[in-house]
Amino acid sequence: MRYLSTRGGAWVSGSRSGGASTLSFSEAVAEGLAPDGGLFVPQKLPDISSRLDSWEGLAYSDLCFEFLKLFADDIPEGELSKIVKKSYLAFDSPDVAPLRKLDDKLYMLELYHGPTLAFKDFALQFVGNLYEYLLARSGEKINVLGATSGDTGSAAINGLLGKGNANIFILYPEGRISPLQERQMACTGASNVFPIAIDGTFDDAQSIVKDLFGNIEFKSKWNLSAVNSINLARIISQSVYYIYAWLKLPRAERSDIQFIVPTGNFGNVFAGWLAGKSGLPSVKFKVATNQNDILWRLFNSGVYELSEVKPSCAPSMDIQVASNFERFLYYFEGGDCASVRKIMESFKRDGRWFFEAFSAPEFSASRMEDAEIPYAIDSVYRKYGAVIDPHTACAFKDLSHAGTKVVLSTAHPAKFPELIKKAINVAATSPALDILSKKKIVKKNMPASLSAVRAYIEANGLK
Ligand SMILES: *Cc1c(COP(=O)(O)O)cnc(C)c1O
Repeated sequence: MRYLSTRGGAWVSGSRSGGASTLSFSEAVAEGLAPDGGLFVPQKLPDISSRLDSWEGLAYSDLCFEFLKLFADDIPEGELSKIVKKSYLAFDSPDVAPLRKLDDKLYMLELYHGPTLAFKDFALQFVGNLYEYLLARSGEKINVLGATSGDTGSAAINGLLGKGNANIFILYPEGRISPLQERQMACTGASNVFPIAIDGTFDDAQSIVKDLFGNIEFKSKWNLSAVNSINLARIISQSVYYIYAWLKLPRAERSDIQFIVPTGNFGNVFAGWLAGKSGLPSVKFKVATNQNDILWRLFNSGVYELSEVKPSCAPSMDIQVASNFERFLYYFEGGDCASVRKIMESFKRDGRWFFEAFSAPEFSASRMEDAEIPYAIDSVYRKYGAVIDPHTACAFKDLSHAGTKVVLSTAHPAKFPELIKKAINVAATSPALDILSKKKIVKKNMPASLSAVRAYIEANGLK
């Protein structure tokens, strides 16, 4: 399987492919973002429809291996199988992604049984082990650098925990993330993890990270790498739980399925759509946003337009631009890279794009105001006895689909104990988080200064 940039191919000289117009899986993963600013997509999708019968009843990691080997065909199968197996060992449910029945034709796919209790573990556990393997193969070492306002940082850290060929530096604003989120990053005890608490805002932290990546000399000297949401390996590993859920449904309920996905950067829901495009039959998708609703507006009006981020109580969905949307755009435009480039450039310049005829029948969208979220948590608790987190709550809006509905539950409620307490007067807990509260916080406090962070990486980076 080869991969190409959504924006074409005139860019490749100077990249890892050495001038070819397409890259292998490993090359595309290592490259991250394509040098022309585009995202990597498979040149041709596999057809899994004839394989589904033989995948019936497979354990999660076996299914994951069967699916990923179609995409990561430049990694020897024995190695890929080991990487996949390792990645889902730390999940605290034997099903890895249990499908829970809430009501007639209504299910919830629990994606929060990984080490940081959010669905990002599905991708980042796999990516961490994949990096470890690819780096061992090339003899390279990397320093992963990122800024976080909460969840992605801890999932990335936990994916790379204790890896010998990668150190990870995560900046976050001191005092502005929840104590729990801080503990998930700063209590790991791993010697390759460097949490940096910046005396400033999330934007300060992010701008330092951007400046360091923009310094070509520093970036290449320290082999800086980002584990961001546009990485190809993250998307493809997330397609697996859609197939897993499909196979877990009673056969009679597989003919008309709507997956309802709490959405921010469009990574999760795109992964599901890609499974559908690869032959998973009869699946549709509902994009559930919070009050940051760029995608809701797009699917309802055909206008893709920036607006200000409004902080919400489902913070992992607080986005301005849905960065993975470009991948869908590539297919929407019939694989016309020139047209993708034109739209993305124009969007970057004007902050908006009007689609003349926007029709995406596999998608619908819903939007939840911030003030509605506690009520949704309360109503789901009373109707189905399920305690859900504020991101998952956004999915429970206008459940009108007549066929089977599968809500993706993206985080464990224990990550948001105050809100849950207020909404339903229940103490949401998790043994994994209780253990953390007894551990020592190890972090580096620093002013929001580029030179201070640079010096810290120079003193602690892997070489
Ligand atoms: C990241 C995240 C989301 C949004 O997922 P996207 O792939 O960005 O659409 C939703 N819920 C939780 C809990 C998250 O951490």
